[in-house]
Order: sequence, then C-alpha cells, then structure tokens
Amino acid sequence: MLWITLLLPGCKFFSATQSKAPVIVFTFDDQHPSIYDSAFPIMREFGYRGTNFVNTNALGHPSLMSWAQITELELEYGWETGGHTLNHEVLNQLDLEIAIANIKQDKQNLSDHGLNPRSFALPRGQCPIQLYSMLTQLYQNVRGSSDFAMHHPLNRKALGYLAYQSGWSAEVVKHRILRGIANDEALIIIGFHRFDIDDDSYADSCPSPTFREILRFTHDLGLEVLPLAEAVSQISGT
Ligand SMILES: [Zn+2]
Repeated sequence: MLWITLLLPGCKFFSATQSKAPVIVFTFDDQHPSIYDSAFPIMREFGYRGTNFVNTNALGHPSLMSWAQITELELEYGWETGGHTLNHEVLNQLDLEIAIANIKQDKQNLSDHGLNPRSFALPRGQCPIQLYSMLTQLYQNVRGSSDFAMHHPLNRKALGYLAYQSGWSAEVVKHRILRGIANDEALIIIGFHRFDIDDDSYADSCPSPTFREILRFTHDLGLEVLPLAEAVSQISGT
C-alpha cells in the first residue's frame, strides 16, 4: 500500500474518502483453446474467475474449446459464460429477423447446457437499434468493444472494455488500471482472446508471462476480480 500511495499521491482510493477501488473483470472472447489451456491455470493461481463470451455454434470445433470445457469452467469453477451470437456474426450485417433468431438460439444453447447466461458481448461492438431493446431484455449486461471510464451508477446496457492487443507489455494494462483507480472508476473490464500464439497474423495474442504479470499486479494491489455479472451486481447493489 505504501508503494501505491507514493505512486498515486492524489488518488482518493487511498485517502479517507468514501471512494472504492474499481472491480476488475477479465473477459475471454471467442473460445480459443488457449483460454482453457493457458489462461485458466493462471487465473486459478490467483483464485480468480473470469467471463467467457462464446459463439455457441463454434463450441466443439476441433480447433476451439469444447462444451465440456466451457461448462466445467462455469459449473465447477464459478466462471461466467456469456452470449456472443452463434457464429460471431456482426449483427448489423444480418437481416433483422435472422439476427433476433440468432441471439435467442445462442442464449438457448447456453441454457440447454445448464449454464446461466446473464451477459452478452456485441461482436465488433455493433448492434442495430431495432435489436437493442430485445437484447437488453434477454441479458442483464451488454458489453460493447470500446474502452471508456465506467463510474457508479453503472449503465449495464452499455459496458466498455480494453481489449489486449498483441505486442503490448503488461505496463499498458497496468497503467489503464492505475488510471481507473485515479479516476474513481467503478468497473474496469480487460479483455483477452487468445494466448501464446506465435503468429503475427493474430492481433490479440497475449503471452502467458504477460498475463501472469497483469494478474499479479491486480492481486498485489488488492483489487477485487469477479466475473462480469457478479461485478455489475455488486457495484450496483443488486
Ligand atoms: Zn468476439
């Protein structure tokens, strides 16, 4: 704590005001197997649980995570599984009726596997306005794809996140978190897609050591890390 006090002398969190530290959420989009193989064990090292946003028609594909892995994470380890459309369709590019059926079937697929989907992530952050009210009735929380400050009271229907990009050091994420603390933010969502992929064609692969360094940072700061639905409920007092 002393170290942080020195680093952030003006930060209200560490003063005697009523400000609370932001809750941190780690999200994992698009069911890459490295989420299970690499990120999950590191999350366990720190006692953390995350949120998977999955495309239910893609689960079980030989190069992706299986239903067994997704259900294990939620039912045995307390992770959250959120909707993300059937096949990662960009909703603006679908006929409205097809988009509605897609979102409903995706959620039904999750429920049929005994999961409890409460959050949805918009593929590429896009959502036709005609879909928005249906989506926010089906899901408690909707996450877009851009990063902005989220203060109390939260707007559950329009959450943002910082998506980790290939080549970033842990410092980029650490500074985003420190800025959120200094800015009295209530919630900071950091998103990942895949891990340890040695292929420049992927723009969003995080090395395991970098991921562990980010988690150690949140751990050493004493920040609370929760799945998205739990974080939103806790912050909102519901
Ligand atoms: Zn995605």
